[in-house]
Amino acid sequence: MTERIVRGRILTFRDDPRLAGARAWRLVNNGAVAIRGGRIAAVGEAGEILANAPKDAVIDDHSGKLVLPGLIDAHIHYPQTRVIGSYGAQLLDWLNKYTFVEEQKFADPAHSASVARFFLDELFRQGTTTACVYCTVHPASVDAFFAEAERRGARMIAGKTMMDRNAPPGLMDTAQSGYDETQALIARWRGRGRLDYAITPRFAVTSSEAQLEASGALAAEHRDAYVQTHLDENFAEIAFVKRQFPWAKTYLDVYARYGLLGPRSIFGHCIHLAESEVAALASSGSVAAFCPTSNLFLGSGLFDKKRLDDAGARVALATDVGGGTSYSMLTTAAEGYKVLQMGGQSWPATQAFYQMTLGNARALSLQDRVGALESGREADLVVLDAHATPAMAHRMESHEGDLEEELFVLMTMGDDRAVRQTYVAGRAAKGA
Ligand SMILES: [Zn+2]
Repeated sequence: MTERIVRGRILTFRDDPRLAGARAWRLVNNGAVAIRGGRIAAVGEAGEILANAPKDAVIDDHSGKLVLPGLIDAHIHYPQTRVIGSYGAQLLDWLNKYTFVEEQKFADPAHSASVARFFLDELFRQGTTTACVYCTVHPASVDAFFAEAERRGARMIAGKTMMDRNAPPGLMDTAQSGYDETQALIARWRGRGRLDYAITPRFAVTSSEAQLEASGALAAEHRDAYVQTHLDENFAEIAFVKRQFPWAKTYLDVYARYGLLGPRSIFGHCIHLAESEVAALASSGSVAAFCPTSNLFLGSGLFDKKRLDDAGARVALATDVGGGTSYSMLTTAAEGYKVLQMGGQSWPATQAFYQMTLGNARALSLQDRVGALESGREADLVVLDAHATPAMAHRMESHEGDLEEELFVLMTMGDDRAVRQTYVAGRAAKGA
């Protein structure tokens, strides 16, 4: 089997720098990653890796550039690639005016397939190799996405959104059909290649109690599958949920009642949380997905990471395209930094890069497979160049050799231009 060697400055995290300080990461300046059969066979000093490599090994020389695990996006909507950057609305109006119109097109399998191709091209161009993805209500949209992800050998999590009220007729299922279609999709796709399934009631606004109950039944039957939905994003949304579920003390109560909390559950946004919701997220091991560009763009509010960290709740970072305005996890981290600054919190670059890699892998319970450059892990890598633009190169001139400066420049000034290459299961995937 041909082996590929990726040379560069190897950076990988072993723990959260917030808790472990500088022991949390390992940097090998003249390093290399050996890849065999889509997995990492060895990581270390380039001299040693090259000495042990077969003669016919392909060598990709990215000397001087940072090589990290592929970036992970914990919350993104693939059917929203044509509504990204839609003007002038907050959440509920934005859904009705733009998103629900666009999502109806995904009844057409050919449309779904063509957008899935664009979407995965774009993720790989941005260095993202794993994502937790919302499809539309149409099973065809899920089939199209998974087929394309499987063809590319990518590790992806996705699911059919379930909506049985407060949406256009063309985007609604029923409690029963949503359940049946999800069962069929799980049977068809779960565990195939590197694919996994997320049970996806869109949010409490668009699901009846019967549909949430069906979602809970699905989660109970498929304990290792994921659950993804939205929580406490926008004040009008929260008021709507309160009217629809008058018995619920909080928004999260609604999901808790139907058994939708747990270590495989990812809740997008989590901005306006009551104290009891923070406690319930933490005690259930549920994950709060921080979506800074979306929260700013839709005027939703400011995520309070420290509050969740202090409570011991699990946190992930996500783009939330198309409410989010960038596919780039680097740009997303930069906006995350600014949101936290608004709340008087700082976010060192080492913590942000931990979050985009091992941190998000842990949030998705994938840390044994991706998120770190260790032998045995799947060979999803990204190569980053902190000198990608004249302004970045200029900024770096006085800071060569300072890892924390380099990472901070990459996140505050970097985007797809800073991504030199992306490897998915050991294959070059940027522009492939
Ligand atoms: Zn979302």
